Amino acid sequence: MEKLTLFNTLTRKKEEFNPIEDGIAKVYCCGPTVYNFAHIGNLRSYFFEDILKRVLLYNGYKVEHVMNITDVGHLVSDDDEGEDKMEKGSAREGKTVWEIANFYTEAFKKDIALLNIIPPTIYCKATDNIFEQIDLIICLEKKGFTYVTGDGVYYDTSKFPDYGKLARLDIEGLEEGKRIEFSSDKKNKTDFALWKFSPKNEKRQMEWESPWGKGFPGWHIECSAMSRKYLGDTFDIHCGGVDHIPIHHTNEIAQTEGCTGKKSVNYWLHGEFLIEEKGKMSKSSGEFLRLQTLIDKGYSPLDYRYFLLMTHYRKKIKFSFENLDSARNGYNNLKTRLAELKSLTLNTDTINILNTETYLNKFIDCINDDLNAGEGLALTWELLKDNELNPTEKLFLTNLFDKIFGLNLDKVEAAKKDVTIPADITKLAEKRKEAKRNKDFKLADELRKEIKEKGYEVVDEKDGKFSIKIIRL
Ligand code: AMP
Ligand code: ZN
Repeated sequence: MEKLTLFNTLTRKKEEFNPIEDGIAKVYCCGPTVYNFAHIGNLRSYFFEDILKRVLLYNGYKVEHVMNITDVGHLVSDDDEGEDKMEKGSAREGKTVWEIANFYTEAFKKDIALLNIIPPTIYCKATDNIFEQIDLIICLEKKGFTYVTGDGVYYDTSKFPDYGKLARLDIEGLEEGKRIEFSSDKKNKTDFALWKFSPKNEKRQMEWESPWGKGFPGWHIECSAMSRKYLGDTFDIHCGGVDHIPIHHTNEIAQTEGCTGKKSVNYWLHGEFLIEEKGKMSKSSGEFLRLQTLIDKGYSPLDYRYFLLMTHYRKKIKFSFENLDSARNGYNNLKTRLAELKSLTLNTDTINILNTETYLNKFIDCINDDLNAGEGLALTWELLKDNELNPTEKLFLTNLFDKIFGLNLDKVEAAKKDVTIPADITKLAEKRKEAKRNKDFKLADELRKEIKEKGYEVVDEKDGKFSIKIIRL
C-alpha cells in the first residue's frame, strides 16, 4: 500500500498511517446530538470524515466506520451543567424526546445523503447502549476513578495520570479557576459526570436504573462505551471537530484508558470549524444555516460540497454567500468542461498508461498527504488543460478522482450540441486523402501532423474513407 500520512492531534505531527490489522481501518466519529437539525458547520465535520474514509478506501483499506447518535445526556454546557439538549428540544416542539430523536436522526441521514457522504458501517444510539455505559462506569469505580456527589457519579481526573494530554491542557491553570465554572461538589475543575441522577420528585422522559440510583449517562461515556464495544479496546482513528479536543475527547481517553489500562486510539484527527462572518455558528442558539437553507436559496448540496472541498480540513473556513457563489461557478465550469469532453470521445480513443500515470501518482501524493483533496481538485483542473491527454484519458482520470471528491462527475451528460469540424480541417484531410492516393506518403504524414496540431485527428476507415475526430477544444 502507498504511504498515507495523517496529522495526529495527540502528537501534533503528521504520521504514517499503520493500521492495527493489515488492510483494515477502524474509525470512530462523534455523531450528531439529535435535538435539532445539523447546521452547515456540523456538516463540515462529517464531510471531512467522509474525505478521510474515501482516502482510506482509495488506498485499498476496508473501513469499519462507527458513528454514535447522541440521543441522551448532552447538556447545554459541555461542563455537565444546564438543561439536557434533548429535553429542551422536546419542550420546544411539544413532542416526546423519543420523537425528537427519531425525527432529527432521519433529518441528519437525509442531509448527509444529499452531500454524498458515505454513511457509516454502524450507527449506534446512546440509548441502545445504556448497559455498556453502566458497565464501564462500574469498571472505573472498581479502579478508584469515581466519586459520588449530590447530583451524580463523577470522574476524578486527578487520579488519571496524563489527564489532558490530548489537549495539552494546563491543569494547574485550570485549577486556579480561570476557564471553567464548576459545581462546588466537584473535587477538581476538570472532573466530569459519568452518571447524573434524575432530579428528586421529577420524572425525566429518559431515565434508567443503575447501581447508583435512577438517572442517565453523562455525555462522554457513550463514546467510550460504544467505540470499545464496536471497535475494541484499541482502534485506529478517532475523529471529531476541534471543539472536542479539550473536553469530550480528553474525557473519552480518561474513561477508556482508565478502565482498560491500554492506549485507546492510535490517531486522533480533528476538523477545523466553519465560521460565519458574524462569528461562531451555534445549534443551541436556534439560529443557524442548514443545508436546506442553502437549497432554498437555489444552491445544490453538491455546490456546498465543492465549496468545502476547496479548503484543507485543518484550516478554518469563513462562510459567505460570495464564497459559495464562486464555488458554484467552479463546480458548474467543471461540469461544463466534462460535458464537452464527453461529446468528443470516440470509441477508438484509448488510454495510454504513460500519459495517465503521472497524474495518478501526483493525485495519490496529494490525498495521502494528510487528506489534501483540495490540491487534488487543482490537479484535476490542470489535467483538463493538458493537450497531451486525449478526452478519454481526461474523463478516466476525472471519474477516478471523483471517488474522493464525491461530486457525481460520472453523471454529467455529454453536451447536446453537435461539434462541427471546421471547413479548413476537412480541406486538409481531403488533401491528405489525395496525397495518399498519389502515394505521396511524406505529404500525407505532414498533413496529418498539421491537422493534429490544430486539435483534430484523421481516422482512416475502409476504402480510402476517413473520419475526423476532435482531440481538444
Ligand atoms: P454536535 O451535534 O453539536 O454534537 O456536533 C456534531 C459535530 O459537529 C462534532 O464533531 C462537532 O465537533 C462538529 N462541529 C460543531 N460546530 C462546528 C462548526 N462550526 N464547524 C465544524 N464542525 C463543527
Ligand atoms: Zn463522542
